[in-house]
Amino acid sequence: MADGSACQSQEFPTPADLIAARPHLSWHAFDGLMIEGVPLAAIAADLGTPTYVYSEAAIRHRYAALSAALKATGLATQIRYAVKANDHLAILRLLGGLGAGADVVSEGELARALEAGIPAGRIVFSGVGKSRNELAVALASGLDQINIESAEELAELSAIASELGRTARVALRVNPDIDAHTHAKITTGRAQDKFGIPAADVPGLYAHAAALPGIKPVGLAVHIGSQIMTLAPYRMSFAVLASLAEEIRAANLPLDRLDCGGGLGVAYANEPAPLPEGLAGALGASFRALGVELLLEPGRWLVADAGLLLAAVIRVKDGSERPFIVLDAGMNDFLRPALYDAWHGVVPVGPSRGGPIGAADVVGPVCESADAFARGRPLPAVRAGDLVAILDTGAYGRVMASTYNARPLAAEAIVRGARWATIRSRQPLEAMWADERLPDWQIVSRSEAGEG
Ligand code: PLP
Repeated sequence: MADGSACQSQEFPTPADLIAARPHLSWHAFDGLMIEGVPLAAIAADLGTPTYVYSEAAIRHRYAALSAALKATGLATQIRYAVKANDHLAILRLLGGLGAGADVVSEGELARALEAGIPAGRIVFSGVGKSRNELAVALASGLDQINIESAEELAELSAIASELGRTARVALRVNPDIDAHTHAKITTGRAQDKFGIPAADVPGLYAHAAALPGIKPVGLAVHIGSQIMTLAPYRMSFAVLASLAEEIRAANLPLDRLDCGGGLGVAYANEPAPLPEGLAGALGASFRALGVELLLEPGRWLVADAGLLLAAVIRVKDGSERPFIVLDAGMNDFLRPALYDAWHGVVPVGPSRGGPIGAADVVGPVCESADAFARGRPLPAVRAGDLVAILDTGAYGRVMASTYNARPLAAEAIVRGARWATIRSRQPLEAMWADERLPDWQIVSRSEAGEG
């Protein structure tokens, strides 16, 4: 099954449908595709392509909608943005300023969140493979909570916390053995997945944690996958969490919070998608009676639609079935279609949008057949030099980029109203090998050895 695959059939939304469903995008007769008040062609003229562009308004809108839905439940809730979705400091600063905490999965993400001004007291550390060093750094930072994924990790954390004279606030991540019905590569809550602790082992391990030095268990956590398009798997995993919480409390152990993870899906192809009100309803129905604090770790839902990848057409090439539109953006810039068969809208940027609409394959320049963004997609006739936007690339976009084929990392820009700013310049070619060294036996001249 493809990630965001509702449109693997030929019933694709048109570029006009896609633009109409994204309030931060609009079509201007003279300026072409606009993001908020800024013509994308103006950003491309300044920064070149490929360039990621983000709308602050779209992120604010999503954050406000989720916060309002959670507030309406009357439950104590906190949003901890999953930094992995988009870890740019400007995105973190924006979300932190709106009140979000952070869910981090590495020392680097922790450092980024702190650098962006998100207080340690609002940070959760998740992840199945935290190293000894990462656990020590996390403890020293004074962060709010560490989500533990195994008995082995718990024992190691207890030892480190005791050595450092600290107490770790810990939630045990439950593996509820539930299929989130998303792409196999991003489903995380089945028994065979590497994540979490089998539900049957959780009450015993919780009691053990409460007796360990340096450990203060505060609750349970669950995260069953990403791009979840129905609420049923959430309800099932929340039921597992609620019954474990009751069992733990019945054993007279303290349990104050449940971390309900992220995963809420987005409508990449304008398909029906769950609303935050639906998720909030499921939280209320599952946990109201327990009177616990609830944490959420959304990533994709907050930032996906805010971003697009601006690219230029290198050339249009004849194909056996339909033309190939070859872009200057490739799978190294945006991996989701190649990795997950993910469906993303591709729309022209203009200003001119003339020519008949025909189906084309939109591909990148990388030497892999997987380097394709869209197949058989209805698009107006485009020519070399025309600009297109690959939509909804704000989450799991630039963070997954590489320099494969020695292609430098893309630039990034952010928009607020009629203003825009470069938030990362295009990587200079030399930066790609700046950290590389030749072994001394290959160096033939003093200048190669860096001696003038
Ligand atoms: N929390 C955890 C533990 C995760 O592993 C992930 C992503 O895989 C998320 C939250 C965020 O998921 P999403 O971006 O789908 O909301």
